[in-house]
Amino acid sequence: MSDYRSLDAQYFMPAFSRTMMIRRGKGCTVWDDDGKEYLDLVAGIAVCSTGHCHDHVVSAICRQAHELIHCSNLYYVPGQAEFAERLAKLTQLSTIFCSNSGAEANDAALKLARLATKRNEAVAFTHGFHGRTIGSLAVTHKPAIREPFGPLEPKCSFVEYGDLDGLRATVNSNTAAVLLEPIQGEAGVIIPPEGFIEGVREICDEKGALLIADEVQTGMGRTGTWLAMHQTKVMPDIVSLAKGIGSGFPMGAIAARDGLAFKKSEHGSTFAGGPLAMAAAMATIDVIEPILPGIAAKGERFASKLAKWNPRVRGLMIGISVGEQCPRVQSRCAELGVLVNCAGDGNLRLVPPLIISDAEIDRAAGVVNEVLTEVLN
Ligand SMILES: *Cc1c(COP(=O)(O)O)cnc(C)c1O
Repeated sequence: MSDYRSLDAQYFMPAFSRTMMIRRGKGCTVWDDDGKEYLDLVAGIAVCSTGHCHDHVVSAICRQAHELIHCSNLYYVPGQAEFAERLAKLTQLSTIFCSNSGAEANDAALKLARLATKRNEAVAFTHGFHGRTIGSLAVTHKPAIREPFGPLEPKCSFVEYGDLDGLRATVNSNTAAVLLEPIQGEAGVIIPPEGFIEGVREICDEKGALLIADEVQTGMGRTGTWLAMHQTKVMPDIVSLAKGIGSGFPMGAIAARDGLAFKKSEHGSTFAGGPLAMAAAMATIDVIEPILPGIAAKGERFASKLAKWNPRVRGLMIGISVGEQCPRVQSRCAELGVLVNCAGDGNLRLVPPLIISDAEIDRAAGVVNEVLTEVLN
């Protein structure tokens, strides 16, 4: 077997810190390089919503790979129009454009907002994460990942997440869009105060700015509805999606309300919306559609098992404030065969496959309880 650790150290830029290799996955289970088995509550960071290597997804990708892998957007792409129809209907928005990632979906949303408003600035929230392309980085808050790359475009002002007065004072006649995560994911599953999202919508309407809901992490059923925004009384002008949309096949998309659309030559991408991505995304929707109504109950099951740690739970997006011991919790859980992940600010994040069974939830929660008790007491 090749010594991948030393090859990685020599040839791969050391931007990631990692300790293990995952070789294989099926359902909610993955196996590492030594054949050790884990129950996976990370799911490729909220990506593998249908579980690992779901038969329906694998056969859709294989079937398409035998037929046509790529043709470019110079031609109608097999599956693209059908996917657009399905995504428009399930998001309750009107028009769709595809991307290859979450960051690129946000870039597209920002471009569309600039076109539609003829304004060029953005407003976003503290601790928010929107991606690492130059454009999406400009609206991402964390100074450590943003500041080395400045000056960035678009010009962006940051407002405390949850602060409507601050938002009203900041959004102005140059603001093309406000970018909002309905629940902050990378920050550690932070749920905003009651009425906040409705207030953001109101301020955007008052000031003529668009509301972009970044549902890259919360979307595609993660929180128990197709969009987390569907649990509020309002809708965004544009929603960006990625992570769970293709079961791990790299892709993203934006959905926009009626009247918002790129016209000829205003946006494009060689790979975006390609045949394999469309097959993966349609198969993913096929799998999630029938289980969507049961996701809230699965989240409640986690919530009740983990109640003494005051978890923040929306569907299968779960955060627990742990503090500086979070990395220790992560590594102890792995030793005991459960993969969990530390998001921002010492917040433990659980984002398992949406197909997780009650028995798997009970087993996972048992280990998380055991480890939190051991580490925090
Ligand atoms: C992960 C994430 C992104 C970035 O997605 P990439 O596919 O990594 O570019 C953007 N926004 C949110 C809310 C995310 O969680």
